[in-house]
Amino acid sequence: MERKIVGYHQDEKEDWVADLDCFHGQHVRHEPPFFNRPWSASEEGRASKIGEALNCVRCDELEFPEGLSEYKRTPTFTQNTIPKGLLHQHSTKAGTWGQIHVLSGRLMYTPEGQSSISVKQGETANIPPQMLHHVAAVSDVKFYVAFYRQE
Ligand SMILES: [Zn+2]
Repeated sequence: MERKIVGYHQDEKEDWVADLDCFHGQHVRHEPPFFNRPWSASEEGRASKIGEALNCVRCDELEFPEGLSEYKRTPTFTQNTIPKGLLHQHSTKAGTWGQIHVLSGRLMYTPEGQSSISVKQGETANIPPQMLHHVAAVSDVKFYVAFYRQE
């Protein structure tokens, strides 16, 4: 999924890592001929790439980023009380991660362009910011969705 570069930091080896607006990082090494990014070696070069998009594989893999805090959660829904909006394609806003918590039963969670994920009792599933998705109750289910952002 395309994510915007919002800043940079250096890892323990002093390699440059771009901070993306999904809260994942991505190395932007200049290692020709494998990675041809001469811009990443200078401050001006890095600054010129702020706002540009990189493909974030960690979002596609639904990997929950570190350092986020929960700020809100939905009531507990059942198969009879799932809001209609959740059954159709929808997404969280920029900078907001969601996490589905299944308390009992089973829920199918389908991120756009990916295969459906079965989320069972006691399991969670991650929803990256702005990634279209929908859910469906398989049978009796109880779940809620918690929302996370960077403090
Ligand atoms: Zn990401």
